[in-house]
Amino acid sequence: MRILISNDDGIYSPGLAALAQMAAKFGEVRIVAPDVEQSSKSHSITSSRPLRMRRTYIPQLNDFEAYRVDGTPADCVALGIYTWGKVDLVLSGVNLGPNIGNGIWHSGTLAAAKQAALHGLRGIAFSTPAHEDIPDFDTVMPWAEKALEMLLPHVQLPLVNVNVPPKPKGLAWTCQSFRHYDGYIVPGKDPMGREHFWFSVRPIEQVEPGSDRWAVDNGYVSMTPLRLDLTDEKLLNDVQHTAPVDASCSMA
Ligand code: MN
Repeated sequence: MRILISNDDGIYSPGLAALAQMAAKFGEVRIVAPDVEQSSKSHSITSSRPLRMRRTYIPQLNDFEAYRVDGTPADCVALGIYTWGKVDLVLSGVNLGPNIGNGIWHSGTLAAAKQAALHGLRGIAFSTPAHEDIPDFDTVMPWAEKALEMLLPHVQLPLVNVNVPPKPKGLAWTCQSFRHYDGYIVPGKDPMGREHFWFSVRPIEQVEPGSDRWAVDNGYVSMTPLRLDLTDEKLLNDVQHTAPVDASCSMA
C-alpha cells in the first residue's frame, strides 16, 4: 500500500514525522508537505503561479522520501498523487492542535485529506491538542495507530477526521460538533496608534454529547466520517415541495 503523508503545520513539524513513522507499519510512505506553516488555510489551491517541489533531507524524516512544496496542503496532496503515480491512502497531520467542530471549515489538515477524497482516494486527518509543549507522541501515536487499524478495513469511508486527546482511554465514533459563535472580535492599537482587530470566537452553546468535541474533552479518540457533498437533502426536499420552481435536483 502506498501512503502519501501531508499536513498543514509544514514539513518540519514533529507531528508529520510521528505520523510517517506510524504509517510505515502499514505500507510504503512518501511525504509531500508545505515548506512553511499553512494552518487555517482551508482548501486553498495555488492557481496563479507555478509550484516548486524540492527533495528535503532532515534527520527526523531520514527513513522517507520527502518533498517540500511552496504551496498549500491541497497543492501538496495533488502534487504528491501526480508525481508518485499510484497512491492508495492519504494521511494528514498529526496536526498540533485539535480540528473539531466548526474548525473543520478552515482546517488545512482536513483539506489535505479532502483533496485525496476529491481524487477518489481515501483521506484521513489526524490532530491532537497542543499548547505550549510538543504533544506526547509516545502516548498519542499508539492510539492514532489503533484508529487507523479500525478505519482501514472500512473502505466505504472516504474521508475521516480523527482527533486524539492527550491521554486517550478509548475510541469513539462521533459527529461533528456544531455551535454558533458570537462574532467576538478584540480591537486594539498597533505601535503607530492605528486601529487593528484580533479575530476571536466564543461559543454560545454547550458541548453536544457524542460529538467530536465531547469525545476529546472526555478522553476518547474521536473518529468522524465526513462527506464532500454538503447538500442538506431534507431541506432541499422541503423547499422543492413548498416552493416549486422551474427545475430541481432529483436526488433529494
Ligand atoms: Mn496546523
